[in-house]
Amino acid sequence: MFNRIRFGVVLILLSLGALCLPNRAEAKKLTVVTATTDLAALSQEVGGDKIQVESIAKGYQDPHFVEAKPSFLLKLRQADLLIVVGLQLEIGWLPPLINQSGNPRIQVGAAGYLDASQFAEILDIPTGTVTRAMGDVHPLGNPHYWLDPDNGRRIARGIAGKLGELDPPNNAHYQERFQDFDKRLMAAEQKWDAEMKLYWSRKVVTYHNSFPNFAKHFHLNVIGYVEPRPGIPPTPSHTIELIGLMKRENCKLILVEPYFDLKTPQSIARETGAVVVQYLPSVGGEKDVTDYFELFDYDIGLLIKAFQATQ
Ligand SMILES: [Zn+2]
Repeated sequence: MFNRIRFGVVLILLSLGALCLPNRAEAKKLTVVTATTDLAALSQEVGGDKIQVESIAKGYQDPHFVEAKPSFLLKLRQADLLIVVGLQLEIGWLPPLINQSGNPRIQVGAAGYLDASQFAEILDIPTGTVTRAMGDVHPLGNPHYWLDPDNGRRIARGIAGKLGELDPPNNAHYQERFQDFDKRLMAAEQKWDAEMKLYWSRKVVTYHNSFPNFAKHFHLNVIGYVEPRPGIPPTPSHTIELIGLMKRENCKLILVEPYFDLKTPQSIARETGAVVVQYLPSVGGEKDVTDYFELFDYDIGLLIKAFQATQ
C-alpha cells in the first residue's frame, strides 16, 4: 500500500516536472527586460532567439510617467538583464520597482543593469547649475536619444556586447546579429536620408522636447515647444509667444507625441495655419510599428506628407 502511494506520488511529481520544465533551448534563453519598447526592439535585433525580451512601458505611453503595476515586479524578478534609457527618464517610476524586485542581478551597478545612454550621443546637456526653472524632466541632457538611427546603431552595439558578457557561449551569435543589423540599418538610413533631403531645414514645433536627435540627424529645425519647459504643461502666455514665433518664422508643422492632449496644439494650429501631426516617439506607438525600422518608416512617411501639404 505504502509503496503504491509512494510510486503514485513519484509519477505525479515526474509528470508535473515534465509540464513545468521548459525544453533545453528555452531554458538557456536570457531574460531581458527593458524600460521602453525601443530598447526591447534593439535588443531583439541583436539577441534573436537566444533572448526573451519584454518592455515595461508600452510604446504609446509617456515614458516619463508610467504607472507601476504588480506585474512589472514579476518581470523584474525573473530578469537576467534590465536595460534602461537613463538620464532620469524613468526616475519617477522605475527605481522603486528595481528595489522591490529583490533581484540582485539587475540592481544599479550589477552586471545585469545596463544604462543605454552611455552608448548614445546625448544632446541638450545642461551647462552650469541645473535648476527646476529649466523644467522637470531633462536635468542630465535629453533622454529621447533613440530617435537618431546612428544612436540606434550605437545602442545595439552596446547591448550586443552586454549580452555576450552575460552569455559568453553565444557571444558570436550576438556579434553576428549586430553586424547584420548594422548592414540593414545602413541601407535604411541611405533611403531615409535621401527621402528627407528635400526637406532639410524645415521648421517644426514639437509638444515635448523629444525630437532633437531626430531633428539633428535629418536636418530639421525645431524652433519651439508647446510645453513652456520639459514636463511643464502649456500656459496661456507661452502659447501666445509660441504663436507669435511660428508666425514670424513661418512654421507650419506641430508634432505631438501620442500621449498629449491635442487641444492646445489645435488652437495654435488655428491661429497659425499650421497642421498638427501625431508622430510616434517609440516602437509600438501604433500596432503596425513593431520594430526600429518601421518606427522611422512611419515617422518619415508622416513628415513628408505633412511637409508636402504645407509647401
Ligand atoms: Zn522628455
